Amino acid sequence: MLLKDDEFGEVLVRKNSMVRGVKFTVSTSGRLAMTVPKYTSEFLAKRFLNTNREAIREKLPVKNPKEQRARDYQKKLLMKKAREYLPYRLEYFAKLYGYHYDKCRLTHANTRWGSCSSNRTISLNIGLMKVPEVLRDYVILHELAHLNHMDHSKAFWAEVGAHDKNYKNHEKKLKMFNPGV
Ligand SMILES: [Zn+2]
Repeated sequence: MLLKDDEFGEVLVRKNSMVRGVKFTVSTSGRLAMTVPKYTSEFLAKRFLNTNREAIREKLPVKNPKEQRARDYQKKLLMKKAREYLPYRLEYFAKLYGYHYDKCRLTHANTRWGSCSSNRTISLNIGLMKVPEVLRDYVILHELAHLNHMDHSKAFWAEVGAHDKNYKNHEKKLKMFNPGV
């Protein structure tokens, strides 16, 4: 359910049979999200919102409707850029160093730059399009190395180091950026 609110813009309403009360959070898009018990009506959800308005205003970094739309637009642009670049860059390094992965997936998770699953799918965050190329390449090489080592063992880092001599520095520099879009 999606509520339109004059103050908070679009409010995501998530129904959950496990919860009893109402819980407010901010979604990755900066929208207000509320988790409510499964059988909550729209009327009741609006009332929850109204009675908590003051607290939300004070405690949660909800973006205003204009900012929410601007952010949606930015994300769309970034996704387009990422789609035209990341899969090809991944393929390039895989060919260069003889890796075989199954699929490349683009994500926009808030917390990670990339991941590699046991079914050989490599996920790359579209936020990588905002970081310097050397760091972007480092993430790709890091995830490719996970195809051979599903951990952060010595052997794993040795493999990353074989393809990126400055990987320690790159890992450190990457922390100055936020994967969230
Ligand atoms: Zn890793």
